[in-house]
Parts: sequence; C-alpha cells; structure tokens
Amino acid sequence: MAEEFEKNIEDGYEDICFICRRPESKAGKMLQLPNRITVCTDCMQKTMESISNVDYQSILNDSSFINSFLKPSYEKKKEKEEEAKEEIISDKEEEKEEASEEKETKARPFPNISFINLSDLAMDGGISRKQKLKKRKKSDKPIIDIKNIPAPHKIKEQLDEYVIGQEKAKKIISVAVYNHYKRVATGTMDEIEIEKSNMLMIGPTGCGKTYLVKTLARLLDVPLAIADATSLTEAGYIGDDIESVVSKLLAAADNDVDRAEQGIIFIDEIDKIAKKKNTHSRDVSGESVQQGMLKLLEGADVEVPVGASSKNAMVPMTTINTRNILFICGGAFPDLGEIIKQRLKKQTSIGFGAELKDKFDKDKNILDQVTMEDLRKFGMIPEFLGRLPIVFTLQGLDKEMLVQILKEPKNAILKQYRKLLELDEVKLEFNEGALEAIAEKALEKDTGARALRAIIEEFMLDIMYEIPKDDNIGQVTITKEYIQGTGGPIIDIRSNQVGLEERKQLQEIAE
Ligand code: ADP
Repeated sequence: MAEEFEKNIEDGYEDICFICRRPESKAGKMLQLPNRITVCTDCMQKTMESISNVDYQSILNDSSFINSFLKPSYEKKKEKEEEAKEEIISDKEEEKEEASEEKETKARPFPNISFINLSDLAMDGGISRKQKLKKRKKSDKPIIDIKNIPAPHKIKEQLDEYVIGQEKAKKIISVAVYNHYKRVATGTMDEIEIEKSNMLMIGPTGCGKTYLVKTLARLLDVPLAIADATSLTEAGYIGDDIESVVSKLLAAADNDVDRAEQGIIFIDEIDKIAKKKNTHSRDVSGESVQQGMLKLLEGADVEVPVGASSKNAMVPMTTINTRNILFICGGAFPDLGEIIKQRLKKQTSIGFGAELKDKFDKDKNILDQVTMEDLRKFGMIPEFLGRLPIVFTLQGLDKEMLVQILKEPKNAILKQYRKLLELDEVKLEFNEGALEAIAEKALEKDTGARALRAIIEEFMLDIMYEIPKDDNIGQVTITKEYIQGTGGPIIDIRSNQVGLEERKQLQEIAE
C-alpha cells in the first residue's frame, strides 16, 4: 500500500477519498476498495462505527424504510409532498417536530452514509418533469356535471354548425353521448347499470366520420384519441398494441388520469380487422385484434406508460380504467352493401318479382338496413359487435352536400380563403357555377369531402400568388370556366381614389 502511495505521488496523481473527497496528501493513506474506489482511513473508521451502532432489528421491522428503497422515486416524491401538506395543516407544532425527528432517525439509520437509489437516477435523468402524472385533486368538481350535460337537441344544434347533412347520425350520436355522460356522472342509477353506449359508424370514406367525432369531442371538451385499426396488433407483435390507444388518450388529456378516463377513443378503419374468410392460418391482424379489444370496450384496468407510447423500464406506469371511456369505431365496410342486398333478395325471392331486386340494386342508402347478422357475415365477431350496441350509418356525400360543405360550416374552406384575402384587402367571391364545378370534380375522385380542399388549393395557388403583386386588385371572382379550365377568374380593380385613401389610413395606423 505504501509503495502504491509513493508510486502515485511519483506519477503526479493523487487518490481522492470517495466519501469526503479529500486528496491523500490531506487525508493520509487511502484504502483501496474494489472498482478503483479509494476511501480515507477516517471515513472508513466512521463508517465502521456507524454500522456497529445500527439497530438492525428495528430496520427489518420498519417496512417503510425497506419500501423506500423498493418504491419508484416519483411515488416517493408524491408521498413526501403529501406528508409535507399534512404537516402544514396540523396545528400541533410540537408533536409534529417530535414526529419528524423520529422520522429522520428512522429514515437515516446510517447517519454518515447517504444511499444512492439507482431508480432515482433513472427517473430524474430519463423522464422530464412534464411527463409526470398530474395529481388528482380530490376537491375538484367532477369533469362532467350531470346538470351541465347539454341536452341531445343542444348537442345536435352545435354539431349542425359544423357538420353538413348526416341528420340521422347526428341525432343518434347526440342521444348516445348524452346517455353515456349521464351514466358516467351518476355511476349507476337505482342499482340499474346503464349499458355503455359504444358506437359503430358505417359510412364511405370522406363523409365526415372522423370529423363528427372530432367536433363532438371539442364541443364537449373531452380528450379524444384517434387510432387506426390497421396499425393495431395483439400484444407482442410488431405494431401498436391495442392498449396503446389508451396511452394516446392519456397524452391527449395532458396526462390527467381523471380526464382520460372520461374521454373518447375513435378507432378508424375498423372494417380492416374483419375476420378473413376462408383462411386457416393464424389471423394476426383481424380476429385476434377484435378479441383483444373486447376487454377494453367493456371496461378494464389498463396499465399504460405515462408520457411515452411504449412500455419500457424507464417509464413510469399508471392504471386507467376504460369503463367510462366512450369508444366509437368507424369504417367504410366496402362490400357490406352487397351482403345486405343478398340477404334482402333472399327474403323477397319467395313470392316477389324481379322488380324488388332491382330496387335494392339502385338503393343508395342500402347500408341503412344493416343488421348484426350482416356485420357478422362481413367478418366482425359477435362478441365484438355485442360491445358496440349503437350502430348507425352515414350517407355518401352528393353534389349538393359538397357545395354546402364548401360554404356553410362555421369554418368552411371558402370562409377560410376569404379571410386570408381580406387581410390583403381583396374580396373573394365564388359564383354558384364554380362551386358546383368544384363539387363535380370532387365527386370524380370518390374520396368524399376530402377532395374538396385539394381541388380548391390547386386553383387558389395562382390567385394567392398573383394578388399581392398588385395593390389595385379589389375583388376576385372564381368562375365555373376557371375551374373547368376554359376561362379565367374575374378580377375587379378598385378605384384608385379608394385605394389611395385606404393606403393613407394604413400608413397612419402604422405610424
Ligand atoms: P372519414 O369519414 O373518412 O373519417 P373525415 O371525417 O376525415 O372522413 O372527412 C374529411 C374532411 O372532410 C373533414 O375534415 C371535413 O373537413 C370534411 N367533411 C367531411 N364530411 C363533412 C360533413 N358532413 N360536413 C362538413 N365537413 C365534412
């Protein structure tokens, strides 16, 4: 040892005590421990003395001390905060002091040694503060107060401002949501458990399924998570596992567990997890995902990571109960029409003529006649359907509805462009022929209202580019000819006088 000490001095390097941090030139000889740890003799002696004074029996009896090592750090912090709060409230100051002294000696049985809890390091280094769970405040009012749930007609009225058409769907969804939150607010009613109002929406792409749910969640001010059924797999397979949708909801609720537990989960493309027909191989993406969702739809405790989408050792977990989460599933169910037609034809083939069969073929709203049996034939398993008691359809959008969607909703696309151009002090008009031409183009694409924005954007690009070049332009009118590529928009020049005056005013404001 002495040789080593001299060798170190010769090297020009000194060892430092791991505990008191003094160099060997001050603290004297160092003891070499495994892993190149050095401790001075003073510290080693103090440590030995402390250890020999410890009452091991009382430590073993004191479960709180042992738990403090086993519990993750965020729980410990929570506990500490709660203890601190309790202490403030307590009036008996003296008693409190005694208690805290006692606690100190209990919590620190090795007075000179501070223990490092590795999980502390992992938590503080791995997770940012933001990702921690929001604390539940017991005094908070319930999020949805039964007296404040808007009545179904009020919910529909508000939906009407944004969603065009789909009257039946809006009515059904308003009533279902109203009943759902009534159930949530009361728990049970006179011991009669009200069934959960999970929904299944059937409608072609771009007809407003997602939009309806998004609008609803915004109006009700509840968190919403949107997931795609095609990305879901059974736990253990590559892809998002089913429980990840709950984790998304927690993120949408700002990690507030209470809010998340009353949110809405929308699962799109649900038809893509239909059971595959005529297959004997193990069906990873279809039937088993439906099976996996059963518990979730009904109500189960789900362990989800806080602030991350995947479970891993560094992420704290929390439990969310899905009992009060409203699940809405949506899908286009492409061949469902055929299945319904076949069933109807079979029913009518006895005694009725071919006329009726023709009628079914032409019926645009054939999906309205869907039954559970049809959905089962499509490939949805009965247990799954049983947990989605409310089934309704949305219509495909026709030309008239598309024109309405362009101009009528509160945040209609035309209103948005008008506002943009207003900022340049230019008035934007679309004549009726132009709107119809846009709707016709959208219909050709067969993606519902989704096509509208893309089409308008294409035509507005040149206009948005050219107009700011010329201060004299006062109004632009988009015409049918412009949309059809046979003409241009009508540009109106503002009178110079007005233009000058406005510019003067603007200058004054700027000054
Ligand atoms: P999907 O039915 O495929 O879920 P979306 O709801 O995503 O279709 O619709 C795409 C977009 O089309 C929405 O963002 C919305 O702007 C518009 N849209 C679709 N249907 C309607 C409707 N009935 N009323 C108003 N806007 C609609």
